[in-house]
Amino acid sequence: MVAYREATAEQAAFLDDLLGAGLFVATEVDGLYGQGAAFARVLTGFDGAVSRLAAADAMESMHFPPLLTRYQLETNGYLGSFPHLAGTVFSFEGRDGEAAEQESIAARHEDWSRFQTMSDVVLAPAACYPVYPEIAKRGVLPDGGVTVDTGAAWVFRNEPSRDPARMRSFHMREFARIASPDDILAFRNLWLARVTGLVGRLGLTAASEIANDPFFGRAGRMLAANQREQELKFELVAQIGGPEPTAIASFNYHQDHFSLVYGLGFADGGVAHTGCVAFGVERVVLALFRAHGLDPQRWPSEVRAELWP
Ligand code: AMP
Ligand code: ZN
Repeated sequence: MVAYREATAEQAAFLDDLLGAGLFVATEVDGLYGQGAAFARVLTGFDGAVSRLAAADAMESMHFPPLLTRYQLETNGYLGSFPHLAGTVFSFEGRDGEAAEQESIAARHEDWSRFQTMSDVVLAPAACYPVYPEIAKRGVLPDGGVTVDTGAAWVFRNEPSRDPARMRSFHMREFARIASPDDILAFRNLWLARVTGLVGRLGLTAASEIANDPFFGRAGRMLAANQREQELKFELVAQIGGPEPTAIASFNYHQDHFSLVYGLGFADGGVAHTGCVAFGVERVVLALFRAHGLDPQRWPSEVRAELWP
């Protein structure tokens, strides 16, 4: 069974408000929502504001589909750290009779998984994962390293909940940096300051915190403690469903994890490390609706100007 995350009463009430206002469109399952026009417009506006923050930087844009190759999921360590969050794509490879059988079992909503075969693609759990193997393919890094803008990509995390901020599919906008350790830390600090400034101008009260990833199992608790101790992950948290604030963006230093997996390095033998800044785009949009009300026409003019200059 999947780990169902209970929502607080406040979170569930906010979900009902979003559905009632047509900002979210319900499906049969928790954590999977369509987005109404006003929600989508704020999402695009915020994505634009993030692009303006990055406008002066030398970056390469690399947009991927919401799928990752199964090979990369098997290579990058995700199944060790987050097996509970991954989603794999299966499809039908059978014959005529099996297709008919599958259809009739499925039509009764019974278990038709035996007709399905694992394919060579999985759902992308983060926007930055396809970037590292691609950069590695090019050979040694240029001086100063590389920064890649993934755009707002649909990603998947298997954590159903009635907390509207915990979705199974949402947009992640990432800036991935592959560079010297010092450059990664400078990049992370720069973006922490930039994003703190932006969310302040958007009228959100946000705080930065040392954080850890939701590593799986008993070994995961050690990994999480180590990550905190070394201050490898920061999150910007803001009020969404409440009562606790929720992470709207993360600032991650992977040290040599991806460099070792993919053999990333400089021509002179210098070590390359990686880091990324990841926005949970829907969560920022939800925090805006929470802070300013469900009708963006009535939001403060400074906030509107920041989203739609
Ligand atoms: P992470 O890579 O886990 O740090 O995720 C990056 C950002 O994505 C987080 O800071 C959240 O804002 C957002 N995020 C992560 N999981 C979810 C989820 N289940 N639903 C919505 N947003 C999420
Ligand atoms: Zn990332």
